[in-house]
Amino acid sequence: MSASPIADRWIVLKFGGTSVSRRHRWNTIGELAKKRADETGGRVLVVVSALSGVTNELTAIADGAADSRARVAALVARHNEFLAELELGEEVLAHRLAALQALLDDPRAASRPLDWQADVLGQGELLSSSVGAAYLRSNGLDFGWMDAREWLHALPPAPNQTAWSQRLSVNCKWQGEADFKQRFSAQPTRMLISQGFIARHEDGGTAILGRGGSDTSAAYFGALLGASRVEIWTDVPGMFSANPKDVPDARLLTRLDYYEAQEIATTGAKVLHPRSIKPCRDAGVPMAILDTERPHMPGTSIDGSAEPVPGVKAISRRNGIVLVSMEGIGMWQQVGFLSDVFNLFKKHGLSVDLIGSAETNVTVSLDPSENLVNTDVLAALSADLSEICKVKVIVPCAAITLVGRGMRSLLYKLSDVWATFGKERVHMISQSSNDLNLTFVIDEADADGLLPILHSELIDSGAMPVYEEQVFGPRWREIIGSIRPRQTPWWQAPGKRQKLLELAAVGTPAYIYDLDKVRERARQLKAIGAIDRRYYAIKANSHPEILRTLAAEGFGLECVSQGEVEMVFASVPGMPAERVLFTPSFAPISEYQAVLARGVTVTVDNVELLQRWPEVFRGRALWLRIDLGHGDGHHKKVNTGGKDSKFGLSALRVDEFIAAARALDIRITGVHAHLGSGIENSGHWKQMVDEMAGFARRIGSVEILDIGGGLPVPYSDDDEPFDLDAWAAGLAEIKAVHPAFQLAIEPGRFMVAESGVLLTHATQVVEKDGVRRVGLDAGMNALLRPALYDAWHDIANLSRLDDARDVDFSVVGPICESSDVFAQRVKLPATTMPEDVMLIADAGAYGFSMASTYNQRALPREDFIDA
Ligand code: ADP
Ligand code: ASP
Ligand code: MG
Repeated sequence: MSASPIADRWIVLKFGGTSVSRRHRWNTIGELAKKRADETGGRVLVVVSALSGVTNELTAIADGAADSRARVAALVARHNEFLAELELGEEVLAHRLAALQALLDDPRAASRPLDWQADVLGQGELLSSSVGAAYLRSNGLDFGWMDAREWLHALPPAPNQTAWSQRLSVNCKWQGEADFKQRFSAQPTRMLISQGFIARHEDGGTAILGRGGSDTSAAYFGALLGASRVEIWTDVPGMFSANPKDVPDARLLTRLDYYEAQEIATTGAKVLHPRSIKPCRDAGVPMAILDTERPHMPGTSIDGSAEPVPGVKAISRRNGIVLVSMEGIGMWQQVGFLSDVFNLFKKHGLSVDLIGSAETNVTVSLDPSENLVNTDVLAALSADLSEICKVKVIVPCAAITLVGRGMRSLLYKLSDVWATFGKERVHMISQSSNDLNLTFVIDEADADGLLPILHSELIDSGAMPVYEEQVFGPRWREIIGSIRPRQTPWWQAPGKRQKLLELAAVGTPAYIYDLDKVRERARQLKAIGAIDRRYYAIKANSHPEILRTLAAEGFGLECVSQGEVEMVFASVPGMPAERVLFTPSFAPISEYQAVLARGVTVTVDNVELLQRWPEVFRGRALWLRIDLGHGDGHHKKVNTGGKDSKFGLSALRVDEFIAAARALDIRITGVHAHLGSGIENSGHWKQMVDEMAGFARRIGSVEILDIGGGLPVPYSDDDEPFDLDAWAAGLAEIKAVHPAFQLAIEPGRFMVAESGVLLTHATQVVEKDGVRRVGLDAGMNALLRPALYDAWHDIANLSRLDDARDVDFSVVGPICESSDVFAQRVKLPATTMPEDVMLIADAGAYGFSMASTYNQRALPREDFIDA
């Protein structure tokens, strides 16, 4: 070894459990360490966790599990197998594994004092770092091995710190160690490997940094060495806007400041130990979170120079929260009550997280610290508290926290979030005084499934500004490649585009429908064997060419008014009446009479119709629409189930309906239910058909179950196309369970949305206070969905389709309403100018059919392409 001094610029790389459990990852570790040393011309310290799952085993052994010997034997076998995978001999770990086994025969094992527990827990990192050093050396890398306990020293106990945390959840000295760097840099090798999680206790024994504490070990080393960077290598490529394993749409956060990162870590994002940030922040050491399996991804950078971007950055969840509610007798203005209460928390070494107070009640939350979980401190606290007040402990709770800069100024964007919580039982709401978080405490059971919903609400409302590209990166689903891509829109094909430009020249605004696209959708549904009958819900778009096209594809046509029925017979010559459905809601009785006279199948949805107009329905065959009592869908205005919905017969009145129908000699041949529109959840279909089949059997004469429509359409880049194959497979299973019934569907949107575009001309391009607006000659009168449902439609400049879409525009119409906005922020070419042909995509469903002449603006033209 050369005696010449090696540069003393350090970089610290920490690898977590999954990163050290496989051979190929150790190859990556070696490559990365060497690369960093070469890039910086400096030195590298690798800090490692135990192999994944090992600390859990050691925790059970430290807790005195009855099968501790078997667990130790399994750990020995696991490490020997790993040595074999690495083509290393068992002698590499022989003495360490012997030390692990010896701990069971240690005289302390009987009473399991905390120092013995710390020795047990520390074995995992000692083993993994020893294996790693041997493997890296066998690959020709010059690595030195260090015992972290020689370098990291636990701080002396803080006042009120419990004995447990003084040993098993310690903080370490990381300041004022003047010669640390000099001594450390005197090590002879350029690259070193050491353990996370362990330190030296004041008494010379082992101390533990708490679960997940290896991140903090790396941060201490980084701060003590004044490292150029601390890199946390794990199994996800950074900190995300939510735990990506729970919320697949979570976005990578590419850049955070220390304070936001701290808040996200503290409120539940396990990816970074909350105590690891302060040492780096105070020492000015930048941090990065990176993925060992995807080492080329840029990850998350955390430093002091990130430009603050207001908005919610992340949503996290902590389980196992304990709420302690304390009811004081005559507490109002009772001097010293709070102080008495908090003294008791202090006495038991419990730190309070959230506080809510009322005249006679104080409620506080306690984090699920290991102290709380592992000891009976809560019972002791309750006993003490009950001396001075009435105590109620509410467990288990979950705390759901929104983190980001400027929470207070975001409240107006959170109405959907509040509404979603409104459906659960919120025990406590707390807003942090640093304006960085807003926390809701609810029962743990109520929190399940909530995060993906809240996350998408935060994006839709603009509270989470995912368009800020310097902060928000790709979605987890994109990174792991599990996204089904959207089709390239038909209108981008050169031939179609040319045709559209010609049609725009005839006059705009104009809806143009591509009949090929309509046929494509029809054929996709025809290919699904489990479906016996297909109807097209013409309210989505009743253009005669579309009706003819779908009728020619074998679709029946479903109408909701007499006008639509007349439209069908006028547009589709020879349309047999038995392929037409009439499913009205609160229509005048004259419409039922007229439509029944044409021989069309009518769906009824209430008993009162039969009672009031028995002769209209006597002796008929009818379908019955039932409200199954719950709804679903992309927006509350299209949710068509439940008590607040006007649609369908209440499930509670089905027997009454059956009796009324029998008395009039009516045969109920179909049962229909429709839960809403744009439904993504495939499980709901099965539940729905099971319920419908139950009613159908009760009725007796039913042949057809009509499961409605509701197939979603991917309007935005963030949406995936509906998984028709999975749906078809689900329907086949359903059909197998209920072979007695034919299945009918009646989609509208799915058939036509993507076939239609709204062509417009740009009127004016205006800049105001930093916002660029392009006005169109079509407004909310032409396409109502964005104003009514906050719906997203992609917008393109058809005249400049080949130019880069490089600037954010707000796209607005000419109507005198502030909601006359098609999109707040859409990327369009900077060159966009008046007279350009602008295209609004996916406008074939509920476009023209909902258009009006508001402001005395003419209805758009309609035309079609049939190539
Ligand atoms: P390591 O063993 O490498 O220390 P951890 O399991 O401690 O890894 O942390 C990584 C895990 O943190 C991820 O697999 C992920 O499931 C979880 N996690 C929770 N919240 C977040 C978040 N907001 N961003 C990224 N990961 C998160
Ligand atoms: N091995 C320890 C644990 O599992 C420390 C760590 O991995 O950060 O908690
Ligand atoms: Mg961790």
